[in-house]
Amino acid sequence: MAASNVKIKGLAKSFGDTAVLEDLDLEVRAGEFMCLLGPSGCGKSTLLRILAGFDRQSAGSTCVDGRDILGMPPKHRDIAMVFQSFALYPHMTVRENLAAPLIMRTLSFWQRQPLLGALSADGRRQRRRIESELVRVAASLRIEGLLDRKPAQLSGGQRQRVAIGRAIIRQPRLFLMDEPLSSLDAALRAEMRGELVELQRRLGITTIYVTHDQTEAMTMADRVVVMMAGRAIQIGTPMQVFHDPQHISVAKFLGTPA
Ligand code: ADP
Ligand code: MG
Repeated sequence: MAASNVKIKGLAKSFGDTAVLEDLDLEVRAGEFMCLLGPSGCGKSTLLRILAGFDRQSAGSTCVDGRDILGMPPKHRDIAMVFQSFALYPHMTVRENLAAPLIMRTLSFWQRQPLLGALSADGRRQRRRIESELVRVAASLRIEGLLDRKPAQLSGGQRQRVAIGRAIIRQPRLFLMDEPLSSLDAALRAEMRGELVELQRRLGITTIYVTHDQTEAMTMADRVVVMMAGRAIQIGTPMQVFHDPQHISVAKFLGTPA
């Protein structure tokens, strides 16, 4: 599948009288790893939640491959999101966590029922396909040895790998990550930075990666968009943004001379 491009235009969001996003414009190119960098409270999570459909915009549009997605129900948007807190199903094994999105998509209600599913040849074929897709994703994230464990039996890094696997297994058009490494320790964070970029390159899924960590933006992004108080105020390669901040508030946030 070819990678998707994303055009956000005039996006706004208010909670009561408080404007959190104001007339936000942003274009993400097909296959790009875009880092959304900004201080805590500037509206990063709100933006991702609106794109994924967990929250509703006050105004504006977002076109993915030319179609406005903001009017679509979340499950038709073909967008995957990974959170800081992983959000795995605690009672399910890693295999079941990874398979859940595929099962929802592929199997009919009856095929999901173990007894009836076992009786149907079609159900068996679907199950084999799910298993092989699952093993491929698990191998690419180096969690193939953990498929029978429950989330409580995993380390933080392993849990985050499972969460990422579950998000990408359906090969979404757009991959959103909201500070996915912030609850990991420094060594693991550094290791996962490289792994995530490599994985994104391999899959080629257009990605918006939210962070308040300059090192992550600097080392991971194709382009960085700096966000302040609900607006995108500078966009460019990491070099351009860090060496030539176009706005005093960007320079202050980055701690570099304007
Ligand atoms: P970031 O992810 O950049 O730290 P958020 O998008 O979480 O910022 O929040 C931006 C602002 O919107 C904050 O001031 C926050 O308090 C406010 N906000 C977020 N969600 C809500 C909500 N459901 N109701 C009221 N205010 C909210
Ligand atoms: Mg946030």
